[in-house]
Amino acid sequence: MLIDTHMHTRYSTDSEMTLAEAMARSQELGIGITITDHMDLNYPNPGEFVFDLGDYCSEYGPYRSEKLLLGVEFGLRMDCLEATRELAGSYPLDYMIGSIHVINDIDLYWESFYRGHSKQEVYSLYFATMLECVKAHDFIHSLAHIDYISRYARFADTHVYYDEFKEVIDPVLAVLAERGQALEINTKRVLTPEYMALLLPVYRRFAELGGRHVTVGSDAHRASEIGRDMKTAFDFADCCGLRPVYFKTGKPEYQARD
Ligand SMILES: [Zn+2]
Ligand SMILES: [Zn+2]
Repeated sequence: MLIDTHMHTRYSTDSEMTLAEAMARSQELGIGITITDHMDLNYPNPGEFVFDLGDYCSEYGPYRSEKLLLGVEFGLRMDCLEATRELAGSYPLDYMIGSIHVINDIDLYWESFYRGHSKQEVYSLYFATMLECVKAHDFIHSLAHIDYISRYARFADTHVYYDEFKEVIDPVLAVLAERGQALEINTKRVLTPEYMALLLPVYRRFAELGGRHVTVGSDAHRASEIGRDMKTAFDFADCCGLRPVYFKTGKPEYQARD
């Protein structure tokens, strides 16, 4: 069974999808799913992007099975590292993804993060922050959407060009590779040939540095987005010499492919 490893239900501030809707869609597609609701401790707007992990586990726990795994997407920040680590260790989750969503108390979704700065400055800060956070958060299983910033940056060209930023990207990949952590292929952005050409040198470099595993996740916020582009992502992983895995009780399992 293939598993889509990244999606958000109503415990996430930005999603209204119910567990029942996610399960119905996964059944329709004949795939399994990992629920990964947003947990961004210290989020700048109080009460947003945090939820009660106990409630989540007791509501969703009874539905756990081979095809319904339970994870969390943790926002990575140095100012709540220990609180995040403690929370992560307090429930037996299948999977923990780490993400850079907020830097200096500003959500990367907000225009103010970019105002008055060049792309070079902002992207360098983004990858430097990612490096510091990835080094410190040794308990996450996979690093989500490495080019997240390009979704929301306010520049004419928001792409992350590997050659331009390799000095700051390589150390991130090296830490993940050395620890055996995975790198995510996030399919929220459609995997067009042009987009894959941008990602290719990053994932190839990850393999060169000793990385072995990728996770593939749709980052779905509604049921219709579940399972998006999974096959394309698996083929892309092959091209890079990386194996797609999902995590069950914190252990990597190979995706069962035809
Ligand atoms: Zn995210
Ligand atoms: Zn997400």
